[in-house]
Amino acid sequence: MGLEDKIRKVVPYVPGEQPKESGVIKLNTNENPYPPSPLVREAMERLQADRFRLYPDPAASELVSELARTYGLDESQIFVGVGSDDVLAMCFLTFFNSDSSILFPDITYSFYDVWAELFRIPYEQIPLDENFRIRPEDYMRKCGGIVIANPNAPTGRLLPVPEIEKILKANPDCVVIVDEAYIDFGGESALPLISRYGNLVVVQTFSKSRSSAGLRIGYAMADPKLIRYLSDVKYSFNSYTMNMPSIKLGAAVLRDSAYTEKCIAKIIRTRENTAAALRKLGFILDDSCANFLFIRHPQIPAEELFRGLKERKIYVRWWNKPRISSYLRVTIGTDSEMEAFLSALRCLLTDRK
Ligand code: PMP
Repeated sequence: MGLEDKIRKVVPYVPGEQPKESGVIKLNTNENPYPPSPLVREAMERLQADRFRLYPDPAASELVSELARTYGLDESQIFVGVGSDDVLAMCFLTFFNSDSSILFPDITYSFYDVWAELFRIPYEQIPLDENFRIRPEDYMRKCGGIVIANPNAPTGRLLPVPEIEKILKANPDCVVIVDEAYIDFGGESALPLISRYGNLVVVQTFSKSRSSAGLRIGYAMADPKLIRYLSDVKYSFNSYTMNMPSIKLGAAVLRDSAYTEKCIAKIIRTRENTAAALRKLGFILDDSCANFLFIRHPQIPAEELFRGLKERKIYVRWWNKPRISSYLRVTIGTDSEMEAFLSALRCLLTDRK
């Protein structure tokens, strides 16, 4: 066996581009177009650089206790990590440890199969139906675990909580992860079910509705027993995942829920106006419950629009993948960013005539 054969080789997840050029309208990674609450700036001024010589609190207690207060939970029901990517990766490592395949949709967050490959977890991708809907009955069979993004990405489609409950009921012997990265933009959270279902893990993030992708904060909420297993794995991997500024600033974000609500309301309004304008331009799209739209034009290839927009310094997301290559995923920005996006599309459509 040579050197090459002993090395773990993986095909990494490819995140959306983070362009270096200036003047870009960035609608490609579902960030929030609004800055975080002014309370975060104040908390930043209170940070003491002298304290950076110390390790941060491994339990991130200040953040966990604000999360507990925010959701009316006990601290033992919460686990935090470096973005929900870190939390989800820890969940895969902890909860998906059998020989049976875990299940997730064929069209979903494209990190799931990367973690499954990395951790050598067998998996099966279950096709969404022709309208990109999850059929709960497809998840009612023997398996090693289930992960569902709700609303799903990149479709923006929501699975109602009673449907999730059916999946939980049918799978008492395996963990069901519900990735609620986009839940605050119009969905009902499965969170209330954690007290009744010891197999449910709800994962959320500060990156979208809380305007803090740069702080890298995510969290899981579940029965204390599952949280303990998760913490044991995390402490066997890296005790100090959350850095001190993120713990403090994340707690400040949570102290201003009124501000967060206001930004969410603005984004939802902009989303609905943008959706209506896109339909007028001939685009086909379903209602979205997230901070993005998943759109296609019946005549114009998505790749052509993607490139045309990029030339105009407007970045959206396009995947050259089966079933979704005719779609663009467009993050909801400010009203003026979406106006610029729509007028660029109008130009691209006119140029083609
Ligand atoms: N889940 C889904 C469905 C996502 O789209 C994203 C964003 N890329 C994440 C999780 C991870 O977000 P973060 O690590 O920033 O919390």
